[in-house]
Amino acid sequence: MKSKTTIAIDGPVGAGKSTISREVARRLGFIYVDTGALYRTLGVYCDENGIDVGDDSATAEYLTQRKPDVSLRFVEGVQRVFAEGDDFTDKIRTPKASMLASRISANPAVRAYLLDLQRSFSEKESVVMDGRDIGTVVLPKADVKIFLTADAAERAKRRYDELVEKGIAADYEQVLANLNKRDYDDSHREHAPLKQAHDAVLVDTTGSDFEGSVEKVLGVINDVR
Ligand code: C5P
Repeated sequence: MKSKTTIAIDGPVGAGKSTISREVARRLGFIYVDTGALYRTLGVYCDENGIDVGDDSATAEYLTQRKPDVSLRFVEGVQRVFAEGDDFTDKIRTPKASMLASRISANPAVRAYLLDLQRSFSEKESVVMDGRDIGTVVLPKADVKIFLTADAAERAKRRYDELVEKGIAADYEQVLANLNKRDYDDSHREHAPLKQAHDAVLVDTTGSDFEGSVEKVLGVINDVR
């Protein structure tokens, strides 16, 4: 077996990428990198600093001039994200942060800004990395590529349940509309759109519970490796 293995998991909103990827990484003894958290952190950080993330050139100029430090650290095995030293982990999971992340991530300057950081994780250790363009752009030579998806209504229901569990007020129809909008925007943007890499294996988790989904993904990894 190779000394280092890279596993890229991409897919639309709410397909269970982060929970499944985290568990798969744990079982394999690999690190897990949630790249969406980096876009979320940068989106919230810029917004808090008065930058209109819908304005690509203003955002690009801000990044060039201020070079805010976005980093990811593992505290007791759990990924935490920081901007300029402040821990953003607990405030990037709101619907507003999702929309800020989706908007800022369409900016090519932002994608370039976060590229080396994402790649650097795979240089040191075996990794399971999830996002939208991991198999296509960030780690095009990943050993295993998976495109994880599920039916939109089921994905919206999972996302809705997650928000309610965290005590965040949510409306199912609104969650479904936001999910469809983010997926549409992510798939139709010009730079690094969400799409299945030609050499990725499609895993559909519609109707599968968490354990079943983890096993499906581990099955693909074992087949491909
Ligand atoms: O995965 P998550 O929902 O946390 O991602 C938030 C947003 O960040 C996505 O809707 C997408 O627009 C963007 N993203 C991206 N590329 C990635 C990961 C996330 O464009 N690799």
